[in-house]
Amino acid sequence: MKWAFVGASNIASEWMVGAVRAVGDEVVAVVSGSAERAQAFARQHGITQALTDLGALAGLELDAVYVSSTNDQHEAAVLQAAALGCHVLCEKPLALDLAAARRMVEACRAAGVVMGTNHHLRHNSAHRQMREVLRQQGLGPLVSARVSHSVFLRAQLQGWRIDNPGAGGGVVLDIAVHNADSLAFLLGEYPVEVMAMTQQRGMSRGVEDDAMSLWQFASGLCAFTHQGYNTPHASNRLEILGQQASLEARNVLNQAPGGELVWRRADGDLSLRLDHDNLYVRALRELHRAIAGQPNDLASGEDGLKSLAVALALLESARTGRRVPVSYA
Ligand code: NDP
Repeated sequence: MKWAFVGASNIASEWMVGAVRAVGDEVVAVVSGSAERAQAFARQHGITQALTDLGALAGLELDAVYVSSTNDQHEAAVLQAAALGCHVLCEKPLALDLAAARRMVEACRAAGVVMGTNHHLRHNSAHRQMREVLRQQGLGPLVSARVSHSVFLRAQLQGWRIDNPGAGGGVVLDIAVHNADSLAFLLGEYPVEVMAMTQQRGMSRGVEDDAMSLWQFASGLCAFTHQGYNTPHASNRLEILGQQASLEARNVLNQAPGGELVWRRADGDLSLRLDHDNLYVRALRELHRAIAGQPNDLASGEDGLKSLAVALALLESARTGRRVPVSYA
C-alpha cells in the first residue's frame, strides 16, 4: 500500500516509517504545517513528496493515510483521507471532543474505508496472553484491575503535551486513552462510570501532568489507573485480580516491545513466555487484515472514540469533583 503521513512527528519518525516499510508498504508523502519540517522529514526518511497542504494529497496515488499531527488537527486529516477513499490509521486521542471523533468515524464508514486508532499497547504479547487466560476463566470471578502507567516524559516530548490544552495536551488525553483501550481489550468492556483527581506536579503549565482515577464497569469490576508524566524512576504495571488467581504484567506499557507476565495461582507463580515483537508493525498487520475483511485485533475508529469518551469523563470528574457516567453515544 502507498501511504501519506500527515504530521512530521516524533512517533512517525521513530516508529511508524519503519513499521510501514516492515510490512512491505511505502511512504510516498509527508504533510507538515511547515515546508522546512516537511522537507527535513522527507530527506531524513527518503520520502519523495514533502507537502504543506492536505489538499495536495488529492494529486497522489494513495491507499492509506497515517495521521500523527497534534490532536486538534487529526480530524481535518482523517476527513480528507476519507474523502480520497484512503484507509486511515489515526493517532490517539482521536480528537479533543466526542463530536469530532464521531465525524471522523462516520466519514470513514460512509467512504467504505477502514479506520484504525493507533492503540499500540494491545499488541504487546502480554496483552494477548492475558486475554487468553481471561477467556479460559483462569482467574476465577474477577474483582478488580490496576494500571500503574506513570512515566517520565522525555525532554523531546515536553512541548505541546505539557502546556497547550488547545492542541490536546495533558496526561489524561495522552495516556488514559491507552489504559481504556488496554482494559477494554482484556476485559471486553469499557467503564460505565469514572472518578478522577488530577494535579500539576511541576512539569506542566495549564494542563494536568498526573491523574489518579477509579473506573466502574457494568460487570461489577472496579479498576484503578494512575497516569503521569513526572515520575522518572517508576516501573509500569498492569494487573487483573480475580478471586482464584491474578495476572501481573510489568513494563509492558511502553512503545518498545518487552516486559514480563506472571500468573499468580494457588499452586505458585507461573511466568508466561512472551513473544516480543514490534507493536506498531503488529498494528499495521492487523490493519491489513481489517482491509482484507479478515478477523483482526485492530483498534478501530469506534474503539478510539470509546477510549476518548473515557478520558473526557475523567477530565470532567476531575473538574467537577463528581463521579461521571461515561457517554459513548
Ligand atoms: P510531535 O510533537 O513530535 O509532533 C506533533 C506535531 O508537532 C507534528 O506533526 C509537527 O507539526 C509539530 N512539530 C514536531 N516537531 C516540531 C518542532 N521541532 N517545532 C515545531 N513543531 C513541531 O508529537 P508526537 O509524535 O509525540 O505525537 C503526535 C501524535 O501521536 C499525537 O496525537 C500523540 O498523542 C500520538 N502519539 C502516539 C503514540 C503511540 O504510541 N500510539 C506515541 C506518541 C505519540 P507538522 O506536522 O505541522 O510539522
